[in-house]
Amino acid sequence: MKPVLFSADYLTQCYSANYAQAHDKFKQRSHNQSNHSFYREFVYRETGPAGEPLVTAVSWQGDVDAACVLVLQSATHGVEGFAGSAIQLDSLQTLTAKNLPAGVAVLYIHALNPYGFAWLRRVNEEGVDLNRNFVDFSQPLPHNSGYDRLANSLLPDQLSDWASATQRLHAYRDKCGQSALELAISGGQYQFADGLFYGGIQPSQSRLNLEQIIEDYELQKRQSVAVIDIHSGLGPFAYGEVICDHPPASTGVKRARQWYGDSVTEPALGSSSSVPKQGLIDYLWHQLLAERVCFVTLEFGTYTIDQMFEVLRKDHFLHRQDVDWSARETQQVKQAIRHVFYPDSVDWQEMVLMRGRQCVRQALQGLGQS
Ligand SMILES: [Zn+2]
Repeated sequence: MKPVLFSADYLTQCYSANYAQAHDKFKQRSHNQSNHSFYREFVYRETGPAGEPLVTAVSWQGDVDAACVLVLQSATHGVEGFAGSAIQLDSLQTLTAKNLPAGVAVLYIHALNPYGFAWLRRVNEEGVDLNRNFVDFSQPLPHNSGYDRLANSLLPDQLSDWASATQRLHAYRDKCGQSALELAISGGQYQFADGLFYGGIQPSQSRLNLEQIIEDYELQKRQSVAVIDIHSGLGPFAYGEVICDHPPASTGVKRARQWYGDSVTEPALGSSSSVPKQGLIDYLWHQLLAERVCFVTLEFGTYTIDQMFEVLRKDHFLHRQDVDWSARETQQVKQAIRHVFYPDSVDWQEMVLMRGRQCVRQALQGLGQS
């Protein structure tokens, strides 16, 4: 029997086995289906595990002077790029300059964190979580006392301490609650450079690239901008949650509800599978465009949060030393982290594309009416 929604061939066209393949497909399809002269690449000094170049690619569909722009962004968290890249490839295929609403264009940012995508890490080449990196580094950095308490349990000195370290994490949850545990671990921290959810000590290369993209494509001058930043790993399997981190009751939240409907969730109100966080990319956009931007995170669920923390701990433990990519231990860790952020089964893939199309359509309609 054929898949109900998408042919196997179409899924293969959209989903990629690794970063290099995703980049090649995106580049190819951009050259066929977008405004060719507006295609740009930001190349990194680092390379991937097979020596492949690491590139953030940007392409544009529609009128260059459009008053309204939809920004579709993938792989902010490297290894989460499989879903985002697929939605971008699908959109490049289904949207054309002719079927976009009048006055609306689409900007694709493919692999904002290509290092993490290629090396199957959530963090970038410096071990920094890009989505905690958007703080004002001229000010004292936020302090996360919960992380301080858990740092050694998250990453024990030796593998032989792993089970007892995990027990200490569970004890913290029993005492303080699930939300407190998630806030401590994933809220963002700026003290432990080899730790999880580390925001860094300066703007990352990817942050500087994003600022450059906003300038180059004159996004600050547009009348209205919708950003959909695509992630995976939180929430029910294959469900795409539209998460809005605009301040409660702000214009940004109201617009998100108008466009995406009642499924929009807000971490600040406790209605999301995500807890409130430091240093989100959202905050740059809020600052630059104020009420003219509506930023949402489209988060696709996979497995449990315990499974996610476990693979991240193992990955950070692995990367404390130089990594031998072909070593068996490395491949075990990498297969596990890839699976937790990208269950590459047909049911998951179909639901991601379907929800992706729905949110893209909602954003385009919203922009078209604004
Ligand atoms: Zn993410």
